[in-house]
Amino acid sequence: MTRKIIIIGAHAAGLDAASAARKTDRSAEITLITKEKKTAYSRCGLPFVLGGHIATFDDLTVFPERFYKMMKLNLLTETTATNIDAKAKTVEIQDKNGNKETLSYDNLVITTGADPFVPPIKGRDKKGIFVVRTIEDGEKINKALETAESAVIIGAGLIGLEVAVACLERGLKTTVVEFLPYVLPVLLDKAMADRVQKMLEEKGMKIIVGKGAEEILGTDKVTGVLVAGETIPADVVVVATGVRANVELAKNAGVELGETKGIKTNLRMETNIKGIYTAGDCAETINLVTRRPTMSQLGTTAVKQAKVAGINAAGGYSTFSGALGSWITRLFDTEIGGTGLTEFMAGRAGIETVSGTIVSKTRADYFPGAFPIRIKLIAEKETTKIIGAQIIGGEEVTQRINALSFAIQNEMTVKELAKAETCYAPPVCETWEPMVLAAEMVLRKLR
Ligand SMILES: Cc1cc2nc3c(=O)[nH]c(=O)nc-3n(C[C@H](O)[C@H](O)[C@H](O)COP(=O)(O)OP(=O)(O)OC[C@H]3O[C@@H](n4cnc5c(N)ncnc54)[C@H](O)[C@@H]3O)c2cc1C
Repeated sequence: MTRKIIIIGAHAAGLDAASAARKTDRSAEITLITKEKKTAYSRCGLPFVLGGHIATFDDLTVFPERFYKMMKLNLLTETTATNIDAKAKTVEIQDKNGNKETLSYDNLVITTGADPFVPPIKGRDKKGIFVVRTIEDGEKINKALETAESAVIIGAGLIGLEVAVACLERGLKTTVVEFLPYVLPVLLDKAMADRVQKMLEEKGMKIIVGKGAEEILGTDKVTGVLVAGETIPADVVVVATGVRANVELAKNAGVELGETKGIKTNLRMETNIKGIYTAGDCAETINLVTRRPTMSQLGTTAVKQAKVAGINAAGGYSTFSGALGSWITRLFDTEIGGTGLTEFMAGRAGIETVSGTIVSKTRADYFPGAFPIRIKLIAEKETTKIIGAQIIGGEEVTQRINALSFAIQNEMTVKELAKAETCYAPPVCETWEPMVLAAEMVLRKLR
């Protein structure tokens, strides 16, 4: 009998789940349901369209229409899944015209993702205040930036800073307001974050840390933001204060949530209800260092979880063991990335650490165009295993973060990294690879 698979959500996780399910079961009937009009575009590229690095929002499309035909996927756009009946194995849907239908499934994959969270700041309903999640959000911000002279970005996480850079590149007077004491507070330790802040300030960005946005000012339309008694003029306000997992639909169906309030799964991305799988920003995962539940909410984790969920929903066997939350960005010309735990996060998890930071060059000293690179390496004191890394530097940060992520996943010690063989040629690297120098620095402290 033909296997019926329904996937709720058709974005990074939904599409990868569909693709994996199709490769596992060539004859399954696979239906994707999404509220959105456009599917299969990169949310991650939105700030770079705003900054003018990518010509149009349409360029962000990852899968063209022919993909769905080729993969034999039924795609229902502008359609909302309104209820899951886990006993009857049905999903109720409603299209944009209000038409309702009930679809039956053998296996279900919930990839409902996350929505931006806007804190209850006074005045948050005025015109000119935006979030960044969908292509429509991007288009609205883009239009507003055409006539705006100033912008305030609330939140100095990855998305907030990427959008702030875009605003500055568009010539706007740009201010970032961060409630926590430093930028990228979940991703970097303070000393590293301060470097990023200094670099951004040198480019002309105003950054206020350790203070919250108290009120968004203006009558009908935003005119400014009140921060610690100071009024910062703003024609545009972008709120980038994080996301909340969309779990209501799953919860109402009896799907269990974890301690992070994301959907809890086993290693096969199956929920507590047999035949219901999940993946992406709505799903919990295990942090590979602490072994505790966490919400990764990165595209990389979403597609990996989704592949596993899709294979299993189609009758195959696959597992996902967890994530480190490895990340990377580029702000102006500076690449910044990290993997594993920050020292602050390790401390909160009760892990005693030793860390070392080095500054080196990305090419031989005498080779033109070398960039400075700063690496912070964090090890667990007792085992000397590497548990985290942060890098700020001009080039090749991605592959160094990847290498350090592999090192953490394979439980490498700092001594092993300090002795590791690396390659060298003047135009691309130093004889002493900066990651190895960072490991030596930690070793010295351990002695
Ligand atoms: C501006 C920006 C930049 C980013 N940059 C990066 C980056 O550089 N690197 C990285 O790894 N990650 C990045 N991310 C995060 C990444 O985009 C997300 O992790 C990824 O989109 C998660 O995919 P998902 O499919 O789980 O969820 P989502 O992308 O949230 O998709 C879920 C979909 O389900 C739909 N849906 C929800 N409920 C229902 C329902 N009841 N019925 C029908 N449809 C429903 C939603 O409308 C949505 O289309 C970025 C995100 C943003 C916003």
